[in-house]
Amino acid sequence: MKPVSLICTQCGQAYPASEMRYRCDACGEPLEVEQPAAGGRIAAGNPLEQTILERYADFLPFASADRELSLGEGFTPLIASPRLAAALGIGELYLKNEAQNPTWSFKDRGTVSGVQHAKKLGYRRVGTVSTGNMATSVAAYARKAGMEAFIFVSSHIAAEKINPIAIYRPHLLRVDGDYGKLYYESLNISQANQIYFINSDATFRVEGSKTIAFEICEQLDFAMPDYVIVPTSAGGNLRGIVKGFREFFACGLIDKVPRFICAQASGCQPICQAFQAGRDRIERVLDPHTIAHGIENPFPPSGNAVLRLLQQNDGLAVAVPDAAIIEAQAMLATDGLFVQPEAAVPIAVIRRLRAENRLTGSEKIVSIVSGSGLKFTEAFAHHSLTSDECKLEEISRYIGERFNG
Ligand SMILES: *Cc1c(COP(=O)(O)O)cnc(C)c1O
Ligand SMILES: [Zn+2]
Repeated sequence: MKPVSLICTQCGQAYPASEMRYRCDACGEPLEVEQPAAGGRIAAGNPLEQTILERYADFLPFASADRELSLGEGFTPLIASPRLAAALGIGELYLKNEAQNPTWSFKDRGTVSGVQHAKKLGYRRVGTVSTGNMATSVAAYARKAGMEAFIFVSSHIAAEKINPIAIYRPHLLRVDGDYGKLYYESLNISQANQIYFINSDATFRVEGSKTIAFEICEQLDFAMPDYVIVPTSAGGNLRGIVKGFREFFACGLIDKVPRFICAQASGCQPICQAFQAGRDRIERVLDPHTIAHGIENPFPPSGNAVLRLLQQNDGLAVAVPDAAIIEAQAMLATDGLFVQPEAAVPIAVIRRLRAENRLTGSEKIVSIVSGSGLKFTEAFAHHSLTSDECKLEEISRYIGERFNG
């Protein structure tokens, strides 16, 4: 490890990174790794042969990165989408396709960073509290690293989500109870059981998410977008992306930091509600319900930290209903991308902002496509999908009548 401190995101209290600590003892808010030294540069070399931890080593707290822990995460495409930009009525739209990670969501970036830290501290066990993607990711990376994994999922988890976790053979526990409270309980049991929890907004998970920002900078040739829009639940990913842009800015690699939009679902929007009311603390959502289950955390542990970031940088926080999320999922499919409902939320939010004239129409926006559509096949039921049938001998006639007539 580099000799870095962990700094409280609220009160600024510093702690050594050599100890395991999840949140600030003084105020209870999440910690973050201090800004890297000035003069950081992107490592020379070919990204086809590098890991994300190697390419962006100057900006990460590891003195050296163990590439054996990597599954080839990151370096995902940034796809220009003139078609959707036109449909949405904005200037330019870019889709950062995180579905192309080893376990099909951006979580792998933070997991590889967390596992790296856990190993350096001498842990042999890692764990997480997750409704799906993070569970899959931590189970996979723990297996690769030869570590024991403790995965706590909600007892309401969809059947199709449990086996993609179980295949990596973690200790898999379906826990009956409040998912938000389970997060805090995991921090309590961590010490006694020597389990390093790489939860949604864990300090070193956030470090991994920074690489999304770094790649966007490189892929846009350092010409910054006006906005980056992030589907947000716990807030760890948004925190990481903001931190990444700020660090590149501090090192002079970019000349401005974009504005950020926190995108949530109407049925669970604690950050948007606090933002609109001008509060600096989130309040627990009592009856969270959305089809976008990955962003259904009723009491996001980094919610207050996200509010602080939005305030500092003229950001926005906007929620959309499930029907709009499903429409956005269909829109992305018109451009060849099948994403999970969470990942479609930003597109629905852009649509809403444009309809309300809160966007002028000339903006250049990067949308974070956070995970793959195959993660949640129940969504198919909302799209009235069809197919036709015909006999082998009749194919030619069938096509002639149906499509050439
Ligand atoms: C985890 C996740 C999110 C939310 O990220 P947070 O860091 O919890 O805010 C959004 N979309 C997908 C697909 C996810 O897996
Ligand atoms: Zn503090």
